[in-house]
Amino acid sequence: MSDFKSLNLLPSIMKALNAKGYKNPTPIQAQAIPYLLKGRDLLGIAQTGTGKTAAFALPILERLTKNKVRTRSGGVRTLILTPTRELASQIDDNIVSYGKGLRLSSQVVFGGVGYRPQIVAMRRGVDILVATPGRLLDLISDGHIVFDQLEVFVLDEADRMLDMGFIRDIKKIIAKLPSKRQTLLFSATMPNDIAKLATSLLNDPIRVEVTPQATTVEKIEQKVNLVQKSNKPLLLTSILKDSAIKSALVFTRTKHGADRLVKKLDQASISAAAIHGNKSQGARERALGNFRAGKIRVLVATDIAARGIDIPQVSHVFNYDLPNDAESYVHRIGRTARAGREGKAISFCDESELKLLKSIEKLIKQSLTVDKKHPYHGAPPTLTKSPQRNSSRGGRSDGQRSKRADAPNKGRGGTSRTRKVDGQGSKRADTPSSRKVDRTSSRKADSPSSRKADSPSSRKTDSPSSRKTDGPSSKGAEAQDTRKTEGRTSKKTTNKRGTPKRKSRRFSTRKSV
Ligand code: AMP
Repeated sequence: MSDFKSLNLLPSIMKALNAKGYKNPTPIQAQAIPYLLKGRDLLGIAQTGTGKTAAFALPILERLTKNKVRTRSGGVRTLILTPTRELASQIDDNIVSYGKGLRLSSQVVFGGVGYRPQIVAMRRGVDILVATPGRLLDLISDGHIVFDQLEVFVLDEADRMLDMGFIRDIKKIIAKLPSKRQTLLFSATMPNDIAKLATSLLNDPIRVEVTPQATTVEKIEQKVNLVQKSNKPLLLTSILKDSAIKSALVFTRTKHGADRLVKKLDQASISAAAIHGNKSQGARERALGNFRAGKIRVLVATDIAARGIDIPQVSHVFNYDLPNDAESYVHRIGRTARAGREGKAISFCDESELKLLKSIEKLIKQSLTVDKKHPYHGAPPTLTKSPQRNSSRGGRSDGQRSKRADAPNKGRGGTSRTRKVDGQGSKRADTPSSRKVDRTSSRKADSPSSRKADSPSSRKTDSPSSRKTDGPSSKGAEAQDTRKTEGRTSKKTTNKRGTPKRKSRRFSTRKSV
């Protein structure tokens, strides 16, 4: 399939794709869309950057538009479950831009921001809900979301969901969904757990694999610097002195490590900001926005916070700390070389990380070129092993390009609110309730309660249910409470005709995005 025309998509969607400058479908789009339009289930093995968001969003928008249904209070026609807030926002942004002119509604919900506006937003139901598991379970448990109108369920980044400990939450959510539905599961990798989950979830799915499992993204030049731990900051600042590095994403293992590094970069007059789970949503969005706009050169992130980030101009990814699991290496370096660009991935490996380096090299089936160009390595004697190992495999010289690779590239963009999918619902900041969300989140900046808002253990930051001792996941018989809660809340906010008021409404906040 060489162009979008042969997919016979709605004229509005074609117009939106044109406006985005998409000429041809990416491989996953070409392979998946025709089957998804026919209502088939899908197992998609694809990383972010392959165009998978459009691959599922376009057929969903078609389906919902061709069969318009009025959603009931709390009703959801499509649920897209995704592991992180950033990813949820980006998916929602994509949906809004692809669905411009279709008169559908979308809402994104995640933790770490106000609960109330999300309750209000769900009162009239939505066509498309993009959610992280923790906050979604809160809303389900408190009776603000019901799935009797659900038609499509998308489980995105399933492998990452499992890594983040969401499996129990996911199972609880799935148990609430009607069994008659179209289900799409996407995962960058296919470990046994995911394969089992796919078997239990999907009904005669088509399988689309656009990247060989656990290989690394094409066009990324990968190097490793063997360095003493204490010399890592100096090494990084020394490399960043090269003004050709315009936009670098630096991964640290811990949140505190990220904050410490930002301070060190500041001291070296290198503009940087951190994003991680201890930052409020507002702070994370600000940091991302400044990075996207080129106001800061370096974004320091932990794996979870950076998951799914789509910033096409990232030219360098630094693994300041090597990731504990080799697959994260693949996800991390996939943040560069997006949208057809080239990129560099530079890893720092201290003595304690040699094993991790080995497992990465095993996974990507190549040894990384050792970069000795920069001072400050201070490599301890044991580290000399690694270069030898490389040379014994055929020994690349410094600067030699890595050859292994995988797939097409790209990513997304995002925010939180109920919006008109047709783009008229506007950005969160434009709607009353979204302003509320922002205020809430900035008040909560860095407060303990805003921490790890999306993680299974601490998600109930500001929800009413967070006061309860049981997690949402342990709440079983909530149906009755649910109705009570809904009754209570709608009483306060119904209009004369008895229909619930909603602050950011689908058909009222008309503003083109
Ligand atoms: P993903 O994160 O895998 O959904 O990749 C999305 C990135 O690829 C975003 O930057 C999109 O704007 C871009 N993208 C998606 N589909 C296409 C296409 N057919 N042509 C060009 N860019 C696309």
